Amino acid sequence: MPGARGAAGWSGGWWLGAARRASPHRDARPRGARRGEVTLAVLHSISLPPGDFGGDAVERLFAGTLDCDAHPYFDRLRGLRVSAHFFVRRGGGVLQFVSVRRRAWHAGASSWRGRARCNDFSVGIELEGLEGGPFDAAQYRALARLLHALARRCPRLREITGHEHVAPGRKRDPGAGFDWRRLASRLARTASGATRLALHPDVAPKAGRGAGHGRGRPRRESPRIRGKH
Ligand SMILES: [Zn+2]
Repeated sequence: MPGARGAAGWSGGWWLGAARRASPHRDARPRGARRGEVTLAVLHSISLPPGDFGGDAVERLFAGTLDCDAHPYFDRLRGLRVSAHFFVRRGGGVLQFVSVRRRAWHAGASSWRGRARCNDFSVGIELEGLEGGPFDAAQYRALARLLHALARRCPRLREITGHEHVAPGRKRDPGAGFDWRRLASRLARTASGATRLALHPDVAPKAGRGAGHGRGRPRRESPRIRGKH
């Protein structure tokens, strides 16, 4: 990612706001002009077993150390090699498993704006939660902080969407319980590089809570793409 070295709050591809848990489930982004540059953030939800929060099973799954005999549900995860760049816990703690310079294995078969293999050009962010269920206020705050930091680190990052939108019909996370409008409000509160980020689904921040409301502070750059995917 040219031009991204030395971004404040980062050490190489690792965000200093996250606890580091290196995962072997990663590889190189594709080489070539801008092919592997990060332009998209993909949001997911996960909890293991589903609905159980606060344990270490997700962390272990991504690190490749999950004991699949520890719970009947885990049997279906045997041999699964997946990861995400980030995991945002209920309470707002953030773990990072893969450098954003590298490709994490989170999106699977997917496409965005006609481009397949979203893992090549995206950052994967898992939210601790139950697909379709609600998320904690602390998670929206942490997610906004993380996205602001990512915008500094990845200058071509422009869009944020859900796994359900890059793999429609196959994936349903983060699901209906994820409040995109609330995230938009959070992102809009501070004028920073993240204001150039566009959310899909496209939503307006909640009235009166967005940045610039009454402050007269112009946005540095408007979201460029608002079309349907
Ligand atoms: Zn997902």
